[in-house]
Amino acid sequence: MYAKLQNIKVQPLPHFSVGDTQTDILRLDLVHPVVSGNKWYKLKYYLAEALAGNYHSLASFGGAYSNHIVATAFAAREAGLASTGYIRGEETSPLSPTLGNAMEYGMKLEYVSRETFRNTEAIMATTANNGIYWVREGGFGTLGAKGASDILSVTDTSSYSHIICAVGTGTMLAGLVQAALPHQQLVGISVLKNHFGLEQEVRSLLPQKEGLASFTIEQDFHFGGYAKHPQNLIRFMQETWVQERLPTDIVYTSKLLFAVKHLLAHQYFPAGSRLLLIHSGGLQGNASLPSGTLPFS
Ligand SMILES: *Cc1c(COP(=O)(O)O)cnc(C)c1O
Repeated sequence: MYAKLQNIKVQPLPHFSVGDTQTDILRLDLVHPVVSGNKWYKLKYYLAEALAGNYHSLASFGGAYSNHIVATAFAAREAGLASTGYIRGEETSPLSPTLGNAMEYGMKLEYVSRETFRNTEAIMATTANNGIYWVREGGFGTLGAKGASDILSVTDTSSYSHIICAVGTGTMLAGLVQAALPHQQLVGISVLKNHFGLEQEVRSLLPQKEGLASFTIEQDFHFGGYAKHPQNLIRFMQETWVQERLPTDIVYTSKLLFAVKHLLAHQYFPAGSRLLLIHSGGLQGNASLPSGTLPFS
């Protein structure tokens, strides 16, 4: 199944609209059931560079539940390239649903120990000049940000005062900052615990120029750390589904939605704000939950 950019839509969220603040969400998750909406955008210019440079294969890094890995496998196959995923840790049996999908899309998996995984430069060096195009973990980099900046051209986003997204590596946020209008405020919700270098990492992906939209990163909504999903988060996801018919994932978008509800309740946004949330996808990650945990899949 191909990615369907025409499926993307803007959904109003009445239960996230308080007083005269109105909230909409951009549903990038509708691009594909398995491939994360934002990963698709982040990979686009890496793929173009790989094709232009006559590389035959894409390679990248990730964990066993990585949205980036499965998106890379899918995108490579669509572009007619081979792909290899370097996976942190040991092979498990059964395979995680994520890696199962990646293999189905033709990706070769190489398992590397946690120590080796930390030294990505050394892994990349083993394949030097081999026709392999490397993408960094999570698609981090300026080409990734450039791809993410195209997210705001999907529809007319000029009337929003705030654009709010979940943040892992910060690549998507850096792209949105570049594409936003100077009066728009970006808010990133970090899903990592105590990742205080994040703001600097986002800045490293931005051009040195005046007039960029400003951004802030909120650090208090990680729910215990990356991929942690306590019962109160699961209950919030169930409630959001019942109220808005909006599916969210346990790693990123549930924490984004929770944060926005909390910030709204604490008058974080000035009166009259118009919020655009980015649903960046990731729903495939929910497949790691016991079946029946969520009322949607
Ligand atoms: C990867 C991912 C993010 C984070 O994107 P970064 O560019 O790494 O900050 C957010 N949401 C989903 C669903 C993702 O898969």
